[in-house]
Amino acid sequence: MKVQVIDLKEREGKLLISNTSPYFVNALRRCMLREVPKLAIEDVIFYENSTSLFDEIIAHRLGMIPLPTDLKLLVPRDECTCKGEGCPNCTVRYTLSREEPGMVYSGDLQPEDERWKVVDPKIPIVELFEGQRLILEAEAVLGRGKDHAKWQAVVAPGYKYYPIIEIDQDKLDEDTIKKAIEICPKKILKEKDGKLVVDGLEKCSLCKSCEEVTDGAIKVRGDETRFIFKFETDGSLDAKTLLMEAARILEEKFKEFEKLIK
Ligand SMILES: [Zn+2]
Repeated sequence: MKVQVIDLKEREGKLLISNTSPYFVNALRRCMLREVPKLAIEDVIFYENSTSLFDEIIAHRLGMIPLPTDLKLLVPRDECTCKGEGCPNCTVRYTLSREEPGMVYSGDLQPEDERWKVVDPKIPIVELFEGQRLILEAEAVLGRGKDHAKWQAVVAPGYKYYPIIEIDQDKLDEDTIKKAIEICPKKILKEKDGKLVVDGLEKCSLCKSCEEVTDGAIKVRGDETRFIFKFETDGSLDAKTLLMEAARILEEKFKEFEKLIK
C-alpha cells in the first residue's frame, strides 16, 4: 500500500491511497468516525437558567461544541486512576456566566486553563433577553463517536475510486466531442487539436454522462486499487493528528484480531 498526501491543512485532508482495496479504505473511514477519541461536554450543572430554553436543550448544544483535544494530556475517564470521580487527567471544567441581553456564544465558556479554550467562539447557544440569566458549570470528558456524535472529530470522511477514462479518438467526430464536453458536470473534458482530452482527471465523479452521448467512444471506470480519500475535522483535532490516531487504532485492532485467531 502507498499513501500520498495530496493536501493536508489544519482542518482537512486529501490522500491518494494506492495498492489497496475498498475494504481497507472503508475500515479507515469507519475508524475515524467511531474510534478516534475527542473531548466534549458531558455533564452540566445549572445554577440559574431563566432563558427561553430548557436545561436539556442548552446542555445538548454545549455538548456539540468542538473543544480542543490534546490526546497526550487526557485519558478516558473510565480508564483514569481517579476511578471515574473526575480529575484533571480525565476532566476539563468550564464555567459560563451571562446576564446582559444578547446572544450567548460558545466563546462565553470559560475554561479552567486557557489551553482548553473553545476552537470556534462564535457558535450561538441561546439568546438572552432583559432580566434573563444563564449561569452554569460544565465538565468535558473524552469519548468516542460510537457512543455519541458529539465525540466524533471527523466530518464527512469519504473516498472515491480513482477515475480511469479511456477515449477512442477514432470513434469521435466534431459533433460528439462537443456533446461530451457540454454534458460533463465537472467540466474536465476539452478539445485539443481536434481531439478530446481530459484536464483534471481527479475531479471526475464517474457519472458516465459522457459515455452516454458518445456511443462507446469513451469508457469511464473506477480503479479498484486506488482511492482518493477526503476528510475534514470539526477543529477539536487537526487533520494530521486525526489521521495518525485513526491509523494507530486500526493497527491495534488488526493486531488484536490476529491474536484472537491464533
Ligand atoms: Zn480522572
